[in-house]
Amino acid sequence: MINSLSDMQINEIIQFLEEIAPLAYQESYDNAGLLVGRADQPLQGMLITLDITEAVVQEAIQKHCNLIVSHHPIIFHPLKRITGATDAERAIMLAIQSNIVLYAAHTNLDQVAEGVNAMIAERLGLLHPQVLAPLRGKLKKLVTFVPHAHAAALRTALFHAGAGTIGQYDECSYNIEGMGTFRAREGAHPYVGAVGEQHQEPETRIETIFPAHRETAVVEALLRHHPYEEVAYDIYPLDNLHPRVGPGMVGELPEPLPVDVFLKHVQKALQTGCIRYTRYTGMIQRVAVCGGAGVFLLPEAIKAGAQAFVTADVKYHEFFRAEGRLLLLDAGHYETEQFTIDLLERLIRKKFPNFAPLKSEICTNPINYFS
Ligand SMILES: [Zn+2]
Repeated sequence: MINSLSDMQINEIIQFLEEIAPLAYQESYDNAGLLVGRADQPLQGMLITLDITEAVVQEAIQKHCNLIVSHHPIIFHPLKRITGATDAERAIMLAIQSNIVLYAAHTNLDQVAEGVNAMIAERLGLLHPQVLAPLRGKLKKLVTFVPHAHAAALRTALFHAGAGTIGQYDECSYNIEGMGTFRAREGAHPYVGAVGEQHQEPETRIETIFPAHRETAVVEALLRHHPYEEVAYDIYPLDNLHPRVGPGMVGELPEPLPVDVFLKHVQKALQTGCIRYTRYTGMIQRVAVCGGAGVFLLPEAIKAGAQAFVTADVKYHEFFRAEGRLLLLDAGHYETEQFTIDLLERLIRKKFPNFAPLKSEICTNPINYFS
């Protein structure tokens, strides 16, 4: 195992991260993505962290890493000046001076079924984890019409471009045979038929679903692999929820636990120094989770039938909203999200088996617990 690959570009890592957590899935207030540096350069080494601080950039220099991937974006609010007055400004200055690229996978990684919350669910041992609040408006449908002989190749090209995935199934499409008509006008170069005469062509109507952010790639594939000069196609926005995209997750413990046993379980699984929680009488089996500030999902957690909701950054008045309907836990922002580092490491290692990204050894949690 090595931790650098001379022929690999930083871009390749970023491209892969954005396949898992497309930037289109980030919240409107967020600033995920490439934040500092140029990605069109060879990758020397990669350091993964929850937060980028000056100490983390120094660690990257020591360990010969020219890419730092963080969960929290170091540039979140716009910066008006970079003078070294704050730790973030010093970290950015040092990164630029040392030619280190800074990249963040933030709410886009929160919103995918393989992301931050899947990791919390895994730590807690939740079975059958599902997205807690699936998002609407993230899916579209393509309908097109193609001569029978070209249908198979076109379908393959569309699937390659990202169409046809529904849950654990891919290459999904619906196909029906029919008759297309057209008349080529003066100046046209028809693939079949003659100019000035109506032509009837047996065609396959292909329907397939695709994630809205893949539209450019899907249409490009369609135009490239369809034989006609003018390709007839329709794109429909869908009202469907995207079952694999949205904040929070919900799943079940293998067996119901009393509240005190569940609290101990969470404390151990998330290595948290302090859990704040509401009163609840009842056993806990169905559990909702959301790393970081997730209390906005409390109604969804209740609606999903969860007996507990593990999140962080809960304010005093927000605890009241649980009203005994479930056990609301604040297990700490860093604590709930820290395993994102392991998640990113695991995903990169799986995709690039000969490359070993490094995990930062610096605990960036600014909070201590006194007891
Ligand atoms: Zn966070």
